[in-house]
This record gives sequence, C-alpha cells and structure tokens, in this order.
Amino acid sequence: MSATTDRSSPSPPAPGPRRVLIVGGVAGGASCAARLRRLDEAAEIVVFERGPYVSFANCGLPYYVGNIITDESTLLVASRELFRQRFNVEVRTETEVTAIDRRARTIRVRDVPTGTSREERYDVLVLSPGAAPIRPPLPGVDLPGVFAVRTIPDTRQIRAWIAQRQARTAVVVGGGFIGLEMVENLVQRGLAVTVLEKLPQVMPPVDPEMAVPVTDHLAARGVRLRLGDGLAGIEAVAGGGLTVVAESGSRLPADLVILAIGVRPETALAKAAGLALGPCAGIVVDAQMRTADPYIWAVGDAVEVRDVVTGQETILPLAGPANRQGRVAAESIAGRATQFRGVQGTAVVGILGLTIATTGASEKGLRRAGVTGYAKVYLHPGHHAAYYPGARPIHLKLLFAVPDGRLLGAQAVGFEGVEKRIDVIATAIQFHGTVHDLAEAELCYAPQFGAAKDPINLAGMLAENVLSGDMPLADWAALDRTPALVLDVREPPDFSAGHIPEAVNLPLSELRTRYRELPQDRDVWLCCGVGQRAYYAIRFLAQHGYHACNLSGGYMTYKDLRAGGLIP
Ligand SMILES: Cc1cc2nc3c(=O)[nH]c(=O)nc-3n(C[C@H](O)[C@H](O)[C@H](O)COP(=O)(O)OP(=O)(O)OC[C@H]3O[C@@H](n4cnc5c(N)ncnc54)[C@H](O)[C@@H]3O)c2cc1C
Repeated sequence: MSATTDRSSPSPPAPGPRRVLIVGGVAGGASCAARLRRLDEAAEIVVFERGPYVSFANCGLPYYVGNIITDESTLLVASRELFRQRFNVEVRTETEVTAIDRRARTIRVRDVPTGTSREERYDVLVLSPGAAPIRPPLPGVDLPGVFAVRTIPDTRQIRAWIAQRQARTAVVVGGGFIGLEMVENLVQRGLAVTVLEKLPQVMPPVDPEMAVPVTDHLAARGVRLRLGDGLAGIEAVAGGGLTVVAESGSRLPADLVILAIGVRPETALAKAAGLALGPCAGIVVDAQMRTADPYIWAVGDAVEVRDVVTGQETILPLAGPANRQGRVAAESIAGRATQFRGVQGTAVVGILGLTIATTGASEKGLRRAGVTGYAKVYLHPGHHAAYYPGARPIHLKLLFAVPDGRLLGAQAVGFEGVEKRIDVIATAIQFHGTVHDLAEAELCYAPQFGAAKDPINLAGMLAENVLSGDMPLADWAALDRTPALVLDVREPPDFSAGHIPEAVNLPLSELRTRYRELPQDRDVWLCCGVGQRAYYAIRFLAQHGYHACNLSGGYMTYKDLRAGGLIP
C-alpha cells in the first residue's frame, strides 16, 4: 500500500450520476456496492460476478461440507433481488469481466452461459476479484475426486462425491486455516483424514511451538499428520479411489483429496490493464484503496496492504479486511475523507473443539521483517478462575517491543476463551497499545468467565516484569549451551514426572533454607511447570545476590518448543 500512499492523488471523479461498475460480488465487492448506495443515491451501480451467486458466505463453506450447515440457501447472505430491491444495485451473475480498457473507460464482459461478449462503460471501476486456490502443476491435480474449496458449487460437488462414493478416507493437502477447517468437517462426516503439509508445522501463520498443541489435538482425534512432506502428484486407482503420492515417496490412499495449499490474488485482469502489482503479487493501492488509475479502486484478497506491525506490504486473504476495504473504497468514491488503516492478521480457527487464534506479528514474521528489539513471554493460565469447575488452560505467547513495551503480536491456543483474549490484544494493537495497557485493562470477571487477573492482565504483568528487570528472561534457544545453572523449582514428584535434561531440582518450598547451596558465580535459569513459581524464586534469589532468569512458560513451554524443533 505504501507504494502509492503518498502520491498526490487526483481528486476522485465528481459525485453525481456516475456509472460505477464492480468486478466481483462477494465480500469486498458487495460491501462496496451496499455502502456506496448509502452514500450516493444518484450513482448507477452494477456488480459483475462470474459465479452463479452474489454475496455468499465463503467462510461457511467447510461447514456445509461437514453438514453443520445443512441448508445451502443459508449460505446466500444476499440475493440479486435483495440488491435490486433494497439498494437499487444491479447484479449480473454468471458474467465475467475479461478486459479493461482504461483509456476508453470500458470493460469487456462475457456472459458465461452463452459465451457472448459486450462492452460496458464506467465512470468508476472497483476490482474485488478475490484470490484463487493454488493448483500446483503436478500430475493428477485435475482428476475427479480432487477438490479445492472456494465456491458453493465446489462444496456441492464435494458433498455429492462423499455421498455417491460413500467416501471413507480423505487426504487434505495443506495444514493452514482452510485445510484444517476441512479436516474438522470431514472428520465430522466420519471420514478418516490424513493431512499432508510441506512445512514441519500446521497453521503456518503461528510460530511452530504454538502449533504443537494443534498437532497433538489432531493426532488425539485420529487425524494422521504427515508434516514436512509435500505433494508430488495424485494417481487414479483402477476400480475407483485415488492415491496421493508425497515427495517422500509415501503413498496415501484416499477416496477424495482436498487441495488447500493457499490462494493467489486474482490479478490477471488488473495486470493486463497495466495496473501495478506489488512485491507480494497483489494489486497496488493507496490508503483509500485506489490504484494508480484515478478511476479504478481495488479491494479484498487481490490487493496488497500494509502490515501495521512490521510496516511491510502484505496480502491477507481474510473476510474482515475485505469488507472494510470495500467500505473504504465506497467512501473514497463518494468523496469522503477516509483511510484503510492496514492489517494485522487477526484470525481464528476452530479445530475439533480446539481454538487457535493470532493477531499482529508472529516471531518468525518479525524475524522475516528484520525486526529486532523485541521480547516474548509464554503463559498458560486457566480460561477462568481455577476454583470454578472446568477451567482449561489457554496457551498464550505475547510479543512486545523492548524497551517501550509496544504490543507486536500474540498467539493463543486452548479450548475456551481463546478468541476473546486475542480480540482484546488485537484492539490494543490497533490503538498502538503497550504491555502496560494489558496489565491495566479492566475486563469482565465472574468465576465462570475469567479471573480477577485475567490472562490478558497476566500477560501484560509478565511483560512489565521483563521490562522492569524484575523478571529477566533466559533464552530457551541457548538451553543446550548455557553455562548457567538450570534450576527446576517444582516439587520432586513433578520433577520426576518429566523435566528439562539440564535441570537440577530444588523446590521453591525449600529455597529459603537451601539457597546457599547454589553457586553465586553462575547465572541461574529458573524453570517450573508454567513459569509462576520460577518467577517467585527469581524475586527471592535476586534479592540475595543471584542473577536469576526465567525460562518463560516453564516445562509446558519446553515441551512445545522441543516438539516444534526450536530447541534441541
Ligand atoms: C473455504 C473458505 C473459508 C474461509 N474462511 C474464512 C474465515 O473463517 N474467516 C475469514 O476472515 N476469511 C475466511 N475466508 C477468506 C474470505 O472468504 C476472503 O478473504 C474474502 O471472501 C475475500 O473477499 P474478496 O471480495 O476479495 O473476494 P471473494 O469473496 O473471493 O469474491 C471475489 C469474487 O469475484 C469473482 N470474480 C473474480 N474475477 C472475476 C471477473 N473477472 N469477473 C467477474 N467476477 C469475478 C469471483 O467469482 C468471486 O466470487 C475463507 C475463504 C474460503 C474460500
């Protein structure tokens, strides 16, 4: 977005009886059309949609496969008739825009059923063509029984295939958001599912250690995982069925295959019209969602936007940003002062009862962006007060800038209350908040919902302790080479049940009487179950002349870091 944000933009076309044509009638396009009508009653607004439906709930598609949503019509958020009657917006479905003539300000449209083409004139053009599922050029990806999930007809075909073939096994290629939502729904349908993922982790937007609880949960629910192994091809089996061939040579039988290896911005139209694409291959727009052409705006999955945390350009195929961008484009077209703030990647997915959510930058994202001067804390608080029955842990990782405490990102995994915490942090990030804001946040509390010190408060307090020097952090990644004494302050039975190999045990309950046994010429790295007792020990030792640091998140984090390949 920054590539054109600062250019001196020509004034938008004057308000009045203009002809506004919109390419793509789902999240961004439909939002833009509806908002524009509310601002400009005089404009003629026409939406062109290649598919048979406008404004459908693509986010609900996996749940239609899983029979959670049983009535297909509920996926249709708004119909052509509703657009016409309520908004006086003309929607032309099964109409593909095939070319833009910027000089003549016309588009070429093709009637999909008949194949006939015609020209349409515009005063303003909005592009919201979305992103297409990636189909790698590998043998067999176009075989019957191999599906991607983007449209209602896609899901209709998957449902029909499952029913007609009485499918029992599926391979989902790709362990990202859409892949895992498909896993959940295929498991819900009773299929045995294998996930083939080229990376060594599922859920690529989060850091590897935060994906470990997801992997464990999937495995516990009977989902087979093949991580670190890519797709080499798909073969048809004589008599029916498919075999997925992995790069490792493994052969995975399947009655159906879902390709969910990511999406690519649909930019062919924009590119052919000479509109600039950015480094992430999305359409370049300014903060008003306008391209370098003063008569063309672009929104949604097809555009590049600024990441508010790293300041870098990115593409983020999510519905919330697409809807907001559609609204911003409409306001800009109507001549209002408006600005899209950028994105921070707030996202959530539910996987067979487990929730994983993220906002802002991940640690690997910060590294990729060359951001230094950050710290992180891990914590595993209950989702509500421990004394109230049913508390379950939320595994939370908070990233923040040092020394000012600005919030950079957070990731959380758990069964309940996960998205609520991430949403709070997401809002704080939007307001340029700091860890101090989290520590001070006044949040809902009753025993069944939270705690007097909510996980959000705790995360902020932990980070404050790091910034104030009350709780120096040890570097998990240096565990195998540190000269420090690694001290586990849990009680002996907990220690015996599992501990860091380098650790020696001195329980917190005995520390005050036995601390002189510790060498004073070495740092002491403290560990416990989740980090809390280690913190108490640090405060004691620091006041007795020791330099003590916390292995944040304790043994629980150690296991995830280890399984995530981040420590030896
Ligand atoms: C299965 C699935 C699940 C998802 N789940 C979530 C979720 O839980 N949360 C979330 O935030 N996001 C989710 N998303 C992503 C979200 O749906 C998209 O980010 C959002 O829809 C993007 O909006 P858009 O307007 O850019 O594109 P789209 O909504 O994809 O709309 C683009 C439309 O443009 C049409 N089109 C393209 N080219 C042309 C042309 N030349 N002429 C005419 N029409 C054209 C296409 O047919 C398409 O219907 C999901 C997506 C999928 C596929």
